[in-house]
Amino acid sequence: MYDDAPGCDGSPGASRPCDYVYDPAQGDPHNGIDPGTAFEDLPEDWICPVCGEPKSEFKKEA
Ligand SMILES: [Zn+2]
Repeated sequence: MYDDAPGCDGSPGASRPCDYVYDPAQGDPHNGIDPGTAFEDLPEDWICPVCGEPKSEFKKEA
């Protein structure tokens, strides 16, 4: 796996946590992100394709 793959922390108040993890190898086709795009290179307005959490709220796995 990727050391730099950040996970979504879920939306505040959500009934269940979001377990989405951005995978640079796959990109995010749902948001038009090409495979091979590093998390750092995502647009600032990119959001979680599952729950809509903003990029700034993503956390890197310890
Ligand atoms: Zn999410």
